[in-house]
Amino acid sequence: MIYDEEFETLPREALEAIQLKRLQRVVEKVYATVPFYKKAFDEKGVKPDDIRSLEDLQKLPFTMKQDLRDNYPFAMFATPMQNVVRIHASSGTTGKPTVVGYTRRDIDTWSELMARTLAAAGTHKGDIVHNAYGYGLFTGGLGFHYGTERLGASVIPVSGGNTKRQVLLMKDFGPTVLTCTPSYALRLAEVADDEGVDFKSLKFKVGVFGAEPWSENMRWEIEKKLGLDAVDIFGLSEIIGPGVAVECVEAKQGLHIFEDHFIPEVIDPETGQVLPYGEPGELVFTTLTKEAFPLIRYRTRDLSTLYREPCKCGRTLVRMGRITGRSDDMLIIRGVNVFPSQIESVLMARKDVAPYYLLIVERKGRMDSLGVDVEINEDVFSGDVKDLQPKEREIEKDIKDMLGVSCKVRLKAPKTIQRSEGKAERVIDKRKL
Ligand code: ADP
Ligand code: ZN
Repeated sequence: MIYDEEFETLPREALEAIQLKRLQRVVEKVYATVPFYKKAFDEKGVKPDDIRSLEDLQKLPFTMKQDLRDNYPFAMFATPMQNVVRIHASSGTTGKPTVVGYTRRDIDTWSELMARTLAAAGTHKGDIVHNAYGYGLFTGGLGFHYGTERLGASVIPVSGGNTKRQVLLMKDFGPTVLTCTPSYALRLAEVADDEGVDFKSLKFKVGVFGAEPWSENMRWEIEKKLGLDAVDIFGLSEIIGPGVAVECVEAKQGLHIFEDHFIPEVIDPETGQVLPYGEPGELVFTTLTKEAFPLIRYRTRDLSTLYREPCKCGRTLVRMGRITGRSDDMLIIRGVNVFPSQIESVLMARKDVAPYYLLIVERKGRMDSLGVDVEINEDVFSGDVKDLQPKEREIEKDIKDMLGVSCKVRLKAPKTIQRSEGKAERVIDKRKL
């Protein structure tokens, strides 16, 4: 279902006209109200008046995560504090959290975008949404909460954790839509299994999973285990939270970006050069409608690709490919660049391992070494990890063949790798310690 028929299916020209008008307005506003932007624009010699076409966006400077940290906590706000009705912060996955604010109208916009998101994923009025994204400073829980209410479906604000109780509620309340991180979805299925509840016999038809990287193979694994359509959702607190982009359940091929509110660009992370559609690089977003915390050309460090081919769902919004990693997540192991998601892909292509893994990077002498701990599947486990050595060598070979990096695989007994309730921690880089 398309929630906002008018804005999600605009012809390109009409959409671009709206984008330009909104861009001009936001650029003027940040220049006048946020000292950081005034200084950054002046240094580049660009004035709000110079923005006459969408291409002129490229004249504007980038905003980096470090800029937000330098202006911690509120100095990037473009509204006086008395208009700010909500504060959130990023999860702090990669350092000090960044703080974001919302006016009442921002909350309204966000709710609309999350209603669109849930509808695109196949949620309707009458659905019951089991919302296991964390409630609190993290934007996931409340973002989904407001969106579900806006759509008119029912929300169960269960948040993360207390997994056994969640299973009980899922059994008793019969929710039809599951919202949480993909890693927590697997955890829920595992605990259901322990509790003798057949997850597939629950009423779920769709899961809206995001907030952390996951691979296409992980999607198949989740769909098979949980018996639902697994849809990818993308967002980050700096831009608004969840509700920046989502896959439509019809195609499940790339995430539609809500371009009437956010202009996406993909750049070469080394040179800052804007790349054409179809080429992978770092995602950059400009917010068009946010009041309290507008962002101009924000470098997300997330890697993806933009596609503008039409989609069978009827939306005219561009799509971004699944995030392949964060530029700061990339591991360089003896000169070979690898992303955790690539290793996940290789692991999940095998039938004999479970979707729980941990990558451990160490420096031995002057050599970096990559350890891959992964759980063996229960049904092929003899009870003794020593029997698994031939398999470990096999997986090492898989990884070497596909990614060109040597590693040491250690198969672990079932249920020995730490489970997550929110964003899974997949990498331990001991080199930084
Ligand atoms: P933090 O940067 O502290 O994790 P957020 O909680 O705002 O802060 O999370 C946003 C980040 O989560 C994104 O920049 C991206 O790296 C990751 N993310 C969100 N959704 C997805 C997704 N669907 N696939 C991969 N990564 C995602
Ligand atoms: Zn679509």
